[in-house]
Amino acid sequence: MSFDLFDKARRNIGVRLGLWYAFVFTLSNVALFALAYYLLAAAVGSKDREVLRARLGEYAVVYANGGLPALRNAIQTEEGGRKTFFVRLVRPWNDVAFVSVPDDWIAFKDIPGGWAGYRRQVGVIRVPKDAERDFVIASVVLPDNSLLQVGRSADSRAALLDPVRMSFIVVGSATLVLGFAVGAFFAHRAMSPVRQIVATARSILRTGQLDARVPVRKSDDELDELVRLFNTLLGKNEALIRAMRESLDNVAHDLRTPLTRLRGTAELALQPGAEPAATREALVDCIEESERVLQMLNTLMDITEAETGMMKLQREPVDLCHLVREVVELYEYVAEERSVAVRVELPAPCEVSVDRNRMRQVFANLLDNAIKYTPENGVVTISVRDEPERVVVLFRDTGIGIAPEEHDKIWARLYRSDKSRSRHGLGLGLSLVKAVVEAHRGSVAVTSRLGGGSEFAVLLPKESGQSGT
Ligand code: ADP
Repeated sequence: MSFDLFDKARRNIGVRLGLWYAFVFTLSNVALFALAYYLLAAAVGSKDREVLRARLGEYAVVYANGGLPALRNAIQTEEGGRKTFFVRLVRPWNDVAFVSVPDDWIAFKDIPGGWAGYRRQVGVIRVPKDAERDFVIASVVLPDNSLLQVGRSADSRAALLDPVRMSFIVVGSATLVLGFAVGAFFAHRAMSPVRQIVATARSILRTGQLDARVPVRKSDDELDELVRLFNTLLGKNEALIRAMRESLDNVAHDLRTPLTRLRGTAELALQPGAEPAATREALVDCIEESERVLQMLNTLMDITEAETGMMKLQREPVDLCHLVREVVELYEYVAEERSVAVRVELPAPCEVSVDRNRMRQVFANLLDNAIKYTPENGVVTISVRDEPERVVVLFRDTGIGIAPEEHDKIWARLYRSDKSRSRHGLGLGLSLVKAVVEAHRGSVAVTSRLGGGSEFAVLLPKESGQSGT
């Protein structure tokens, strides 16, 4: 259990960042303190040595002027009888002539003659028996060749530096805890969008509800950008999956009828004693029916691809007037057969970056509908309007028209109005038109009156934007 907790904490970015903050905080504190401590210790040490040297010089003058009695007298009258300095006079051959030891120099008394080695030298001597205590001793060789030593305990130094050390330990520990807490807090706060992304992804995986989104904060930082991108990704996925489900539903629903028909016809052909001519006819029907199914499947796939942004558009500058002429030529025979006149009103060449084949498909579908839903002796006019920002291609007919309540419905997959049932068709043409034009960042519109003809407009922006490839 406790290992689990430790493992969880170890994998938590907030904890890890907190530890890093604390580590960096502490490291910089230690470095700063070490520098400050070193400078302070050096300053105090140099002051100590200065005081010692002054006192040594003073006593040397007293001794030179009045000998040992004068020195003894000077020491006794010093600081109202309080002995703060260690003073010793050593004659040649290590004969100690005088020694004055401050009362609290207990450790010193334990090393008789131990100072002899420190002639003419000022240094810090650490006394082995009392590691807490440092002594600073200054020595001078007097004119009569005796050695005068003046020493002082480094207690004052310790008294000054000890609180500094202590305060560092206190402040250092506080910074360590504070650094960790502040670091962990801010990292935890900063990571909140990431936690929300994880929670949303988990909830989608668990419940299968694709409409879940991560709440967007208004901070406009990189994590906000990540959240927005993640939401966009979720949106696209949702649209893709929904479109796939719909397509699957549509396919399942709409294939049932032709496939049942196909099966019925095939069964008819297989009946014992069937006439060869009838069998042959049944087989032709089968092929026609399977062709229809195949076409429906392909168109459904195309629509789904275009709607979900998966359609690969081979964009190139295409003269739309030329493309219209090509399509009109293609439908010349059909129009003639139905006694429908097709007219074109085309300006000078106007180029737009589009996928030539896909746009040909769009124009063909619209022209096919216009001819199909226009009675004999009707007129279909295709015009291209070159505007500054876009090109508008209009398909106008004098056909049966569309009721206002159907204007929105006709773009849906497999929608066919009752009036059009008598004509062949899958109900997928306009869905494909809309999906392909929108994949080009364009739009489609319809103006129509029942019995008064229709006008379908394809609006294509001249700036292609970034869709497609
Ligand atoms: P289809 O033509 O195969 O039925 P579409 O998707 O091309 O399918 O069109 C959907 C419906 O929109 C048609 O069934 C028809 O009712 C209506 N429609 C399309 N174009 C026209 C038009 N030019 N005039 C009248 N109705 C139209």
